[in-house]
Amino acid sequence: MATLGIPRNTIAILQKYEFHFQKKFGQNFLIDTSVLERIIAAAEIGREDCVLEIGPGIGTMTQYLAERAGSVVAVEIDKALIPILEETLAPYGNVTVIQGDILKLDIRELAEKYAGGKPMKVVANLPYYITTPIIMGLFEKSVPLSGITVMVQKEVAQRMQAKPGTKDYGALSLAVQYYAEPEIAANVPPNCFMPRPTVGSAVIHLRRYAVPPVKVEDEKFMFELIRAAFNQRRKMLPNALAGAAVSGITKENITEALRKLEIPETIRGEKLSLQQFAMLSDILHRYGMPDGKG
Ligand code: SAM
Repeated sequence: MATLGIPRNTIAILQKYEFHFQKKFGQNFLIDTSVLERIIAAAEIGREDCVLEIGPGIGTMTQYLAERAGSVVAVEIDKALIPILEETLAPYGNVTVIQGDILKLDIRELAEKYAGGKPMKVVANLPYYITTPIIMGLFEKSVPLSGITVMVQKEVAQRMQAKPGTKDYGALSLAVQYYAEPEIAANVPPNCFMPRPTVGSAVIHLRRYAVPPVKVEDEKFMFELIRAAFNQRRKMLPNALAGAAVSGITKENITEALRKLEIPETIRGEKLSLQQFAMLSDILHRYGMPDGKG
């Protein structure tokens, strides 16, 4: 089978099926073999792996994955792509295509069925309109996986990897870095896709931690705090958090907790590390308890 990563082969199959790109599904197909090679290399796929691909499109990357992995499960929302995938993936006996919406599928059940509950690897050129819900869904629902290698909008990749005190640092950086170690593997310009996206892209590899790098009593509460801190990122932390009324915590509770942690009261959320948010969360969470002592 001729590789689809070459523009003329992609054009030929699209014309054969009279396929029309659907903007609402974030369809930008890869047409660059060197980018495909780099994604596969970053994902470190071997015969022992079961790979979950989100949005196979016409099967361009799926073919690469099928050549290297033990098995591939590919979930595609667009019904019009299913007959195309039947043709382009016909030579590969180790691929299962599922038509459906990745945000609505029970991925844990899927992992159990196709990988016997063993950690899967997720590899995808993601539809950009739902990058964050897809990635956070995989982490928060505790889907068994060892790594995620995905193409995302360049700015989103930078935010995932950002460190405290930088302009890109925010709630997404902390959420991703609680679950995984991020590393940008490649920057990818718009001309590597058909049609060309209006934004730059990047491949990011997220290596899942077996246990999170910080200990926190109540994850949900910590993320509530983080979201509130960055919702008003220009405000000093006590004002940002008190203004957002995080689970009944008062401004006095926050200044007292900061004092205990020897963090200046004038600090903004964008300067706090994940470790500091975890410690702050543990103290504040106790204020919210019935016998509420910090
Ligand atoms: N993997 C292909 C490639 O690299 O050429 C296509 C990538 S394209 C950026 C994103 C793909 O995700 C499209 O095929 C699109 O139809 C599919 N998609 C969009 N939303 C989806 C969803 N909610 N669930 C599953 N697939 C989705």
